[in-house]
Amino acid sequence: MTTSETSAASQTSAESHTGDAQTSADPQTTGAAAALAAAEEIVGADRVTRGGPGDNTGLFRQRDTAATVAPRTAEQAQRVVKAFAAAGGEVSLHAYSTGRNWGLGSRESATDNVVALDLSGLDAIRDIDVAAGWAVVEPGVTQGHLAGLLADTERMVNVTVSTAHSSVLGNALDRGVGLRHQRVEDLVGLEVVLPDGELVHVGWWPEGDRKTPVYPHTLGPSLVQLFVQSNLGVVTGATIRLLARPEALRVVRLNYTPENLGPATALLRRWVAQGLASGVPKFYNPTAARGYGSAPGQFLAHVPVDGTAASVAALSAIIADEAVKSGVFTEVSTTDATDPDAPHHEVTSLVERSYLGDPDVSDRVFEQKMGMRADQLDTDLGFLFFLPLLPFTAEAVVTAERLLGQVHAETGVLAGGTGNVLGDDLVDLVVAMKFDRADAQAAHRALDRLYELFAEQGFLPYRLDVDHHEWIDRVGGRPSARAFARRLKDSLDPTGVIAPGRYL
Ligand SMILES: Cc1cc2nc3c(=O)[nH]c(=O)nc-3n(C[C@H](O)[C@H](O)[C@H](O)COP(=O)(O)OP(=O)(O)OC[C@H]3O[C@@H](n4cnc5c(N)ncnc54)[C@H](O)[C@@H]3O)c2cc1C
Repeated sequence: MTTSETSAASQTSAESHTGDAQTSADPQTTGAAAALAAAEEIVGADRVTRGGPGDNTGLFRQRDTAATVAPRTAEQAQRVVKAFAAAGGEVSLHAYSTGRNWGLGSRESATDNVVALDLSGLDAIRDIDVAAGWAVVEPGVTQGHLAGLLADTERMVNVTVSTAHSSVLGNALDRGVGLRHQRVEDLVGLEVVLPDGELVHVGWWPEGDRKTPVYPHTLGPSLVQLFVQSNLGVVTGATIRLLARPEALRVVRLNYTPENLGPATALLRRWVAQGLASGVPKFYNPTAARGYGSAPGQFLAHVPVDGTAASVAALSAIIADEAVKSGVFTEVSTTDATDPDAPHHEVTSLVERSYLGDPDVSDRVFEQKMGMRADQLDTDLGFLFFLPLLPFTAEAVVTAERLLGQVHAETGVLAGGTGNVLGDDLVDLVVAMKFDRADAQAAHRALDRLYELFAEQGFLPYRLDVDHHEWIDRVGGRPSARAFARRLKDSLDPTGVIAPGRYL
C-alpha cells in the first residue's frame, strides 16, 4: 500500500470540520496569494517553501498545505499573522514549534487549506534567571539547548524522553509529559499573537530589577492555559519554570510478570501516595520494556526517588525492601546506575540523568527504542501514539493491558504501553505502535479500535492525533463547555485565521 492510499484510508475527522476540506486556496488567484506574497516580503523568499511538510511517521493523510512560512522573530510572526488576518481566513495558519509531534501528526494540521507557520527559527533564550528559577524561551528552543545552559547549576529543565532536539514550548503547548510532571505546569507566562495580529503577554513575566515571585495566575482569570491545546493564538515566547535540581536521585528498577500486574500496580500506587517516589514514576508493558533491555515477557517499573543523599538512600532502601518482601517482583535493583557491572547500567544511568534534567543530546535511549536517528522517523518509520488517561488503580491498569491484547488479537498490531504516573490518582498511558510503513492500514485500524475500546471504559485521550479531532466533541468535556470554548473562538477569530479544528 502506498502512502497516499494509506493516508486516504485513515482520512477521517479532519474533513468534517471544513466541509470543503479538499478545496485548496489557489495562491495565484485569491486573497491567500496576497497574504503569501506579504509573508515573503516579511520573512524573505528563502524562508517560504511551497507545498506541504512532506512525510509524517504516523502516515496520517497529508493535508492540503499551500506553503510553509518560517519567520525568524516574534515581530515577523506577528506581521505574518496580520497578513493572513487581512485575507479574511481564506487560508488558515497552522503553527508549530519544532514539528516533532511524532505519532500524532508531526507537522500536519487538523484541517486542509492551510499555510504552515514553522516557528523553529525563533530559537532565542531571551532571558534567564537561574537563581529565581525562570527562563524566557522562544518556540524553537530545544530541551537540549536549555538543559545545556543549566548543566552544573542548581536548576534543571523538566525534560521529556523524546529527542533532545524537540521544543520545550511546543511540547508544553500540547500538554506533553516530562519526567518531573506534565509540562503545562512549567508554563508561567506566554507571549501570544492573537488572530487579529495583536501581541499580548499573559501570566507572569520578569519585571527588570523588581523581583516578583514566579506565579502564573496573576490576578483575575488565569489566562495562560487558554492558549494550551488551543487555536486562540500563535505563541511566540514563554516564561518557563526552571526546577530546583535534587541533590541526589536514584531510580529503583523493578521487573514483574504479567500475572503480578495488579499487585505490582497497587504497591507502586502506595509508594506514590505515601510520598516515597518523586517525579513521574513509569511502568512499561513487556513490549515497551524491551526498549530498556528487560527480558521478554517482563513488565518494568522505574521508581525515581530524590532529595538529599541521606533521604534518597533511606527511601530507596525502604522501597527495595518492601518490593523484595512482597514477592511480587522478579528483579529489584537500586544500584543499576552506580554499579558499572549491572546488566542495565548504561540505560539506567541515562534514565537517572534524564530525571535530573539531562535530555541526552546524543539521543542514545531514543535511538535504541526507535532503531534509528530522530531525523529519519518521518520518512523511514511507521509510528503512532494513542494517549489516554487512566485512574491509577490496579483494576484500570490491568483492564488497559487487556485492551491492548484485544487490539493485538483483532489487528495483529502489538502496542507498547508506558504508564506515566502523574499523581496519586492519575496515569498517562502512552500507547505506542511501531510498524512497517507498508502495514499502515492495520496500524490505523488498531488506532481507531484503541479510541473506541478505551473510551468505552472511560479511559479518555488527553491529546489527539490530527485524524481524530472529531473526538473532542465525544470526549472533550460537557457540551456547555465546548459551546463556551467555540464562543471564545468565534469572538476572537471569526474568520478562522488560526488552525481551525485544532482542539476547538
Ligand atoms: C520515542 C519517543 C518518545 C517521546 N517521548 C515523549 C515524552 O516523554 N513526552 C511527550 O510529551 N511526548 C513525547 N514524544 C512525542 C513528541 O515527540 C514530543 O511531544 C515532542 O516534544 C513534540 O514535538 P515538538 O516539541 O516539536 O512540538 P510541535 O510539534 O512543534 O508542537 C506540537 C503541537 O503544539 C501546537 N503548537 C506548537 N507550537 C505552537 C506555537 N508556537 N503556537 C501555537 N501552537 C503551537 C501545535 O498544535 C503543534 O502541532 C515522544 C515521541 C517519540 C517518538
